[in-house]
Parts: sequence; structure tokens; C-alpha cells
Amino acid sequence: MLAQRMSLLSGSGTAAAREAAKVAAAAGRQIIDLAAGEVIIETPASVRVGAIAAIKAGANRYTESIGLAPLRQAVAEKLTADTGVSWIADDIVITAGAKQGLLDAALAVLDPGDEVIIFRPCWPTSASQVLLAGAKPIFVDVRSPTYVPEIDAVRAAVTPRTKAIIVNSPNNPTGAVYDRATLQAIGDLAVAHQLWIVSDECYSSFVFTGGRHESIVMAHPGIRSRTILVNAFSKELAITGWRLGYFAAPPEIVSAAKKLQSHMTSNANIIAQHAILHHLQVSDGAFEKEMRQRLIDARALGLRILSDLHDVAPPRVDGSFFFYLDLAGLISALPADAPARTADEIAGLLLEETGVGSVAGGTFGDPQGLRLSFGAPPEQLEQGLRKVVGTLNSLKTRQVAA
Ligand code: PLP
Repeated sequence: MLAQRMSLLSGSGTAAAREAAKVAAAAGRQIIDLAAGEVIIETPASVRVGAIAAIKAGANRYTESIGLAPLRQAVAEKLTADTGVSWIADDIVITAGAKQGLLDAALAVLDPGDEVIIFRPCWPTSASQVLLAGAKPIFVDVRSPTYVPEIDAVRAAVTPRTKAIIVNSPNNPTGAVYDRATLQAIGDLAVAHQLWIVSDECYSSFVFTGGRHESIVMAHPGIRSRTILVNAFSKELAITGWRLGYFAAPPEIVSAAKKLQSHMTSNANIIAQHAILHHLQVSDGAFEKEMRQRLIDARALGLRILSDLHDVAPPRVDGSFFFYLDLAGLISALPADAPARTADEIAGLLLEETGVGSVAGGTFGDPQGLRLSFGAPPEQLEQGLRKVVGTLNSLKTRQVAA
């Protein structure tokens, strides 16, 4: 018999969608995977060189549980440059991807019975980690087309049990980027009610409109002492499998993470740590620039193709690398005998009929959304999106085969 906590968890829906696309490909079908939350591009040369050098040098021991000191220093310098807020190595914890940083945060600050505000649609792991820590996710729904939280709704969700607010901007799955006024208002609430802010900034490199990424610590000068700012190299350098992330936080959280990580993973993989350190030391930013341009082009191409949709508004995609379609209008216009009538069924039909993998919004707590990644190789993206448009536009006039 399993522990009760296991009944709180469902498997990751995004992983399941990825898996479904892989299974279909393994069965010999031509699959275009727009489900994966990653950019398909070669690993930066500097990361590979750093890893190989570490292997050649025989790096094979445990490191400090919160990461190699020079890497923490290099990340502090990077984060200082990225945010304009100054950080030192002591503020930084190196993690096995952002996921571990977020779990550290949950385990460090949450007690059973605590409530955590999460904006929905949301990346499913946010809620699962809160549940794992024994606390309760309180969802505040955000709506298309902006998917930015309304501050009155956030205020209304705060109770004496609220312990934290999870902010994820740029957002997975919606592509929303929270404006400064929203970040400031969330920060004000956190200060007034003594809440933690867990700021998941994994997609910080991918902001496409209105200037560069703004972290909540940039928008709200008083929030830093109650913020755990989580980020990773997974998306920025397209190295999701290397498992290297970090967070910046006040000293008590850094100390908590030191203990937690020493009992869970001991440390992030030493080769990955050296590889990223090397990258941070030698990189001139050319790879990051190339990635960014690739995604700017992919976004523009995708928006052009998606503008042909009939009953679905083109998404805004201010950031991240996801097109998030609101299918509510289309679904409500479908006849009773349409071949698919929910986002789940539509995602299933797309995979079955056209070989395009996508993630239905149910995974994110939104039964009417559909997420399409634009991290796929450009030719595949173009082909895949044209198929999506063809299928969605055909739904109103097609009937289930008798
Ligand atoms: N946070 C968000 C919003 C994500 O979308 C993801 C990955 O998809 C993560 C965190 C986890 O990132 P990592 O692979 O670095 O653990």
C-alpha cells in the first residue's frame, strides 16, 4: 500500500503528451512534436567543451550540496547583470533544474494546512509540489487574451492561511508576461500579508514584446527579502536534459536548501556544473542571441499561420515559446456530432489524424486551452501548425464517421 501523498499526485500531463508523441513515432508514424517544452537546437559549443574538459580532468566527486562555489559566484554575477539587482554567491543555490529549486522552496516554507496561490492555467508541477509539501493550492483563474491576474481576484484569494504566491512570468502555458503594475500589486499583497513569493522565471530569456524580462524583484524593491527567484539553464540554453538550475533567496532559504539537497540529490551533477561554469566564463552571448532570433522568427511564422484560424483568436505570446489557444469559442460553436468536442479530444484527434503532438489545456487546469510549442525545428513547426489550422477549421463541418 502506497503512502497517502501518492494519491494527491497525477503524473505530469506535459510528460504524458510528450510520451504519447514518442510512442506514435516509435510505432513508425511521422510525428511533428509540438508538445515538448523545449527548443530543439544543438547544445552550445561552450557547454560541450566545458563538460568534456571536466570529464577529462576526472571531475567525479560530490560537490557542495548547493553547488560549486565558483559556479554560485558566476550565477550571482549573471543574475546581477540580468536583473540589475545585486546578488552575491551566498544568495545562490545550484539545483538539478528549476524543478528542484521550486521543490526546495515548497519544502522549506510550507506547513500542512498552508495555502499557496497559483494562477491557472498553470504548469502542473507547481500545484503538485505544493501538495507534496502538505499544503493546499488555491487557484486564481486568469483569462484570455492576456492571462494576466486581476489583482482584486488575487486579493480575494488571500486568507490567514496563505503562505505564498507562485508567480511564473513569462508563463507556461499561456505565454503571458506580467506587467510592472501587476507585479508591484502582487508584491504589495505579499508585503502586507507577510507572504513568500516564489518567482519561477525559467522563460526569462524569452520576452518578445514590451522590452526585456522584468523580475518581480526589479518591479518591487521591497519584495526581495520574501522572494525565492528560481531559474534554470534548461530553456535558456536548450539543455533540458542536463538538469542545471539555480535560485536566489534570503539566507534562511539557502540554509534550508543546503539541508534538503544534502538529503535528496547531494548535489547537481558535477559535469553539468562545470559545463555551465565554463559557458558563463567564456560565452560572448552569441548562442543566446541565436536562440532568441530563432524563437522571434518562429513566433512570427506561427502567428501568421494561426491567423488563418476561423473560430480561435491568435494568441498574444508576449513571452515563453508556447502558442496557447483559447478554444472556448470554437468548442461552443461545434455541432453535437463533431469528431472532437473538448480540448482533450481535439488534441487526441490532432495526434491521430495529422500526427501533430500538442498539450490539451486540461493538463494546466483549463479544459478549453491547447498548447503548441514553437521550439520545434522551423520546417516542422510550419507543417505542424498548418495541419493544426486545417483540422481546427474543419471541425465545425465534419461529423463523426458513422
Ligand atoms: N517551471 C516552468 C514554468 C516550466 O515550464 C518548467 C519546465 O517545463 C520548469 C519550471 C522546470 O524546469 P527544469 O527543466 O529546469 O527543471
